[in-house]
Amino acid sequence: MDYIPISMIKEYTYCPRQAYLKIMIMREPPTESMKYAKQALNAKDIVRAIEEQGIQGEVRVEVPIRSRNLGIVGRVDAVVVNGGRATIIETKLSIGNRKKLYTRYNHILAQAMAYAIAVEEAMRVTVDKIIIINQERKTAITIKPTPSMKIWIKRTIQDMKEHIQNQELPPKTTNKAKCKACHFKNICPP
Ligand code: SF4
Repeated sequence: MDYIPISMIKEYTYCPRQAYLKIMIMREPPTESMKYAKQALNAKDIVRAIEEQGIQGEVRVEVPIRSRNLGIVGRVDAVVVNGGRATIIETKLSIGNRKKLYTRYNHILAQAMAYAIAVEEAMRVTVDKIIIINQERKTAITIKPTPSMKIWIKRTIQDMKEHIQNQELPPKTTNKAKCKACHFKNICPP
C-alpha cells in the first residue's frame, strides 16, 4: 500500500467513512479550510508562538516528513529542533479551546500526534511539545504527547489500513451534524 497522507488520519478521525470515500474516490473538491491552510501559513503567528513559549532551537518551516514504520507521509508547518528534542507547530483556522481539541476537534489532535510520531522517527528526536495555533483567535494551545495518545494514533492508522486493504466500508460518524455538510451525504450507504 502507498504511504497514507497524514491529513487523511485527521479525516479518518473526523469520520472514518468520509476518509475512506475520499481515498477510494479522490474527487472531492478541497474545503475552504483546506484552501485557507494552504494559502495562509502565517510565519508571523509561528514566530510569535515560539517567542511566547520561550522555545529555543533551530526553526524549520514546512518540513516534509515520513514514517516508514507507520507508512504515513506529510508536511509539518514548523519544527523547532534543539539537540535531541523537538517542538512541533501546527496552524489551523479554528480549533476552539483546549477542551474542544480533545472532543469535537480531536481530528486536529490526531493529525498533530501523527506528525509528532513521524517527526520522531524521521528526525530521530523526541517531540516533547506540540503547539497548535488558532489563526482566527491568534491563540495557541500546547500539548504534551503521551504514550496513550501515540497508541490511539497507531490504532487509528492500523484500522484505516485494514479497511482500505479489505475494501471494507468503515463505520459512519455518530455525529449527524457532520453529515449535513458532507460532500458524500448522497452516496454514503446506510
Ligand atoms: S454522510 Fe456522514 S457518515 Fe457518511 S461520510 Fe459523510 S459525514 Fe461520514
